Amino acid sequence: MTKRISIAVAGAGIGGLTAAALLADRGHHVEVFDQFHTPQPVGSGLVIQPVGQAVLDHIGAGDTARAFGNPIQRMLGHEADNDRKVLNVWYDKQSGGQYGLAIHRASLFQALYDAVQARDIAVHTKSLIAKAQDGMLHLNDRTVHGPFDLIVDATGAGSPLSPLQSTPLPYGAIWGTVDWPETEMPAHHLSQCYRRADRMIGVLPIGKVPGDPKPKAAIFWSMPRDSHDAWVQQGVHAWRDAAIALWPAFAPFAAQVHSPDQMTMARYAHGTLRKPWSPGIVHIGDAAHKASPQLGQGANMALLDALALARALDIASGDAALALYAKARRWHVMSYQTMSAAFTPQYQSDSRWLPVLRDRLLYPLSQVPPGPRVLTAIVCGTMLPPLRGLGRI
Ligand SMILES: Cc1cc2nc3c(=O)[nH]c(=O)nc-3n(C[C@H](O)[C@H](O)[C@H](O)COP(=O)(O)OP(=O)(O)OC[C@H]3O[C@@H](n4cnc5c(N)ncnc54)[C@H](O)[C@@H]3O)c2cc1C
Repeated sequence: MTKRISIAVAGAGIGGLTAAALLADRGHHVEVFDQFHTPQPVGSGLVIQPVGQAVLDHIGAGDTARAFGNPIQRMLGHEADNDRKVLNVWYDKQSGGQYGLAIHRASLFQALYDAVQARDIAVHTKSLIAKAQDGMLHLNDRTVHGPFDLIVDATGAGSPLSPLQSTPLPYGAIWGTVDWPETEMPAHHLSQCYRRADRMIGVLPIGKVPGDPKPKAAIFWSMPRDSHDAWVQQGVHAWRDAAIALWPAFAPFAAQVHSPDQMTMARYAHGTLRKPWSPGIVHIGDAAHKASPQLGQGANMALLDALALARALDIASGDAALALYAKARRWHVMSYQTMSAAFTPQYQSDSRWLPVLRDRLLYPLSQVPPGPRVLTAIVCGTMLPPLRGLGRI
């Protein structure tokens, strides 16, 4: 056992809360800082892949997450114009034992926050972090906390602490949460409809949110990153008509959207820190690597980073531990970042030829062995060992 240290976790999101719980379990003194006034998540639904679910189990958050969330067995996508299937990935066609856990962010946050509260961890709210220097955390209100032996930067895609330079992606999406309606849509599939690569509509059944027994769906509609204002101007009625014309089965979901405020615009960027640490500070999750959610791996990556960091601190200290964390995660992160960069334009771009390649060549190839097995390993997060040199999950 290496020495116990004092750690500030900057950001109480998916990676930050998980890291805080894992590090506190190892006897480190942990304090969490977040800008929120009362603990709260932002956004709609996401999928926690099997590797990420295993990390949740390490901190005792898995059962709560599973009780809220909804198992996804298959991802299915079709072309709007001709109804042809162009995405078909099973998690575990034979036994169904392995699945993606679709969950609303509020539910995942609840599971993670319960885990943090069950431990001796101070959570400082209303703490907008401005910078970190010499082990001290500086807030925007000019208060300074520390010194800490280590600062874990888990402040996400807009991190004020990370040197990550990223490239904005041309497409984003509006996301919303609606009740699961009377529908023929399968309740355990992520269902998507595409028009070429410039339109993607999705329905993700995400189970329940805290305080509401009705099952929910996360819905999304892709659009160029700068076209949100035009979408608001166009009005929700026109949008609903356009969406239903492309995908009639989407009607009972779209019918629940009455105001643009129900849909939140998410813009994506892509970039990876080559070295996700410097002395006294380490970056995890979106603060270390950003990608579009096309492969559904961002939350998993944050969970895996948290576990790798905790394990690295079990067997080394100081810079050596941070270097070990970076080494353990490098190939897994790089491979998913590369795949995300390759896949995203096939589904979200203005390209005319990429969707043709996707539909006519890549999709048929993906259905021939070993294609299905490879696709399953990609979505499950197990293409490469996620914690190289730091044990199994
Ligand atoms: C629309 C959308 C859909 C997605 N779908 C999926 C999916 O299906 N599967 C998947 O695995 N991933 C998905 N992702 C990606 C996933 O949400 C992120 O990768 C994941 O949330 C990253 O976790 P994190 O802990 O790094 O950051 P976050 O969860 O974003 O947490 C960051 C925290 O830091 C706090 N913070 C930020 N700045 C400051 C500051 N200056 N001071 C104090 N606090 C601060 C924030 O309040 C927040 O609590 C999706 C992302 C988007 C946008």
